[in-house]
Amino acid sequence: EELYGVNRWGAGYFSIGENGNIQIRPNHRLPDVTIDMKEVVDEIISEGIQFPAVIRFHDILRSQVEIINETFGKQIEEANYQGQYCGVFPIKVNQMREVVEEIMDAGEPYNYGLEAGSKPELMAVMAYNDNPEALTILNGYKDKDYLTLALLGRQLKRKMIIVIEKFSELEMLIPLAKQMGVKPMIGLRSKMMVKSSGKWAGSSGDRAKFGLSIAEILNVIERLREEDMLHCAKLLHFHIGSQLSDIRKIKEAVNEGARLYAKLVLEGMPLEYLDIGGGLGIDYDGTSTTNDSSRNYSTEEYVADVVWGVKQICDLEKVPHPNLVSESGRAMTAHHSCVVTNIVGEMKPAGTQYDISASSDEHILVKNMRELHSSGDQFHPQERYNDAAGYKQNAYEAFKLGILSLNEMAKLDTMYWQILADIHHSLDKDTYVMQELEELEDMLASQYLCNFSVFQSAADTWAIGQVLPVVPISRLNEQPEVRCSIVDITCDSDGKLSKYIEGTDISDHIPMHNLRKGEDYHVGLFLTGAYQDVMGDMHNLFGRLTEVHVYCHDDEPGDFYIEEVVPGTSAEKVLQTMQYNTEYMAKTVKKQIDRQVRKGSLAPREGVRWTNFYEHCLAGSTYLRVE
Ligand code: PLP
Repeated sequence: EELYGVNRWGAGYFSIGENGNIQIRPNHRLPDVTIDMKEVVDEIISEGIQFPAVIRFHDILRSQVEIINETFGKQIEEANYQGQYCGVFPIKVNQMREVVEEIMDAGEPYNYGLEAGSKPELMAVMAYNDNPEALTILNGYKDKDYLTLALLGRQLKRKMIIVIEKFSELEMLIPLAKQMGVKPMIGLRSKMMVKSSGKWAGSSGDRAKFGLSIAEILNVIERLREEDMLHCAKLLHFHIGSQLSDIRKIKEAVNEGARLYAKLVLEGMPLEYLDIGGGLGIDYDGTSTTNDSSRNYSTEEYVADVVWGVKQICDLEKVPHPNLVSESGRAMTAHHSCVVTNIVGEMKPAGTQYDISASSDEHILVKNMRELHSSGDQFHPQERYNDAAGYKQNAYEAFKLGILSLNEMAKLDTMYWQILADIHHSLDKDTYVMQELEELEDMLASQYLCNFSVFQSAADTWAIGQVLPVVPISRLNEQPEVRCSIVDITCDSDGKLSKYIEGTDISDHIPMHNLRKGEDYHVGLFLTGAYQDVMGDMHNLFGRLTEVHVYCHDDEPGDFYIEEVVPGTSAEKVLQTMQYNTEYMAKTVKKQIDRQVRKGSLAPREGVRWTNFYEHCLAGSTYLRVE
């Protein structure tokens, strides 16, 4: 478990069983109920579903919704806090309908609501949050249509709060509200002074893209007073960035936000809600540090700091405790989904077989390399390495000048890699080795070719250096012997994972098991439920993955069932989104085939077979089909 850090990033949901398979414990209330992930993978195979696939554990989603609501409830009770927790899920983090529906269902007892950050998201939340008690928070830049829809929501008696991001939105809202005769619920987004850290540090500070400065907020108060609409101001909002890794920044933001809230109430604003935005982090790399992919606090600590922090300031300022809103998205969804795929090949620098036997007239450089090749441990490893590297460099120069033949170059290169592998094997891991020799480990690392696209399924690993856990689904009771990196099947050299969890370190390579002939090797890319699931693109025309939705059997602990399979995007669909007419394409290819049939270079029966095959591939998956 230590090697891949499963216990550390698994948050109680993932562990390794005695049988060497990943185990899922999907419900925080039922710690004894586990699902064997290998059994899920086997069932997927038996249903004829091809990998890669996204597996969604809906029970984990429900569990996370319960945890945040119950943790706030518990702290509120313990602190004798007078307000309530009214959380919302920001659908930008995962807009999949099934995810939103599941969250709304699990959140119903707590009146858990939704947040939207754009017009299409607003349209989704209008339809999917029909609980009149739950909040709908409307963030993002707004036009007239956005505001009109939001006012319509008020007419439909929904608790929709329009969060003003910039002053001009208020000027648009006031006449619209009057015209429609609707009293809006207004929120104000504050531009925070706290300097947050991490990848989203730009969400706060003077140059933040969103929010109102204190001077602008005071102008809003003035303007609302003029229009006799000050009573509409209900909420103060801030968001200082996603994946906040340091609890001290959170405390600081809560202090600043609560102080501002209290002062605005004292200015006469009848606020009722303080919205602390998102930012609750995930310990992706399992280090519990302020690394960008980690966090140095627990959910409990986060909630306690919010509740007690706001209470203290409001008590000091003698204003009523606000209802607390948080917009945690990442923390709600990251754990519930993972990408499972297979390794379809291995590239080894030292793996090429080539006949290196001596020929009579070969060049001196080849002879030198051969001597080194057969010298065994006669020389110090460092000396052997230096000589091999020198000969290789000379050979490259000679090849460019036309002195070495293709055959000689191939022999020399093969021997070079075999020497390096030999030196590496001979090194005693415990004794001091020079730094260059340590690099041998990296130079000799294999590349495991993985049937997926980084750009579709793990966009943040490429875009912002996010670490995501990668672990084989089974064989975890065997020592992994191969150090490798994972590359995807796109024709892009950025299409690889470059940071891995190895023990308590973040490493450039990951230990994996030897691939066995005729046996699948399934690996899981975990914690992909937040952003990764929905932000991917179709680079190289690799489309959305097939999705498998898994639920626990309530009556039979340990048993599970596949509730729904959402097919991945076919090649045809992906091509159509790029404006291709796939019917026309099929017809054109058929015409070309028919021409060859007429010429007699293809038998008619074969012509029909190839026509059907082309159409079959159009309807098929964009990923590699593994036999
Ligand atoms: N609320 C707002 C306004 C956001 O911009 C974001 C995302 O950055 C979130 C909530 C969700 O944040 P997180 O996923 O960190 O919980």
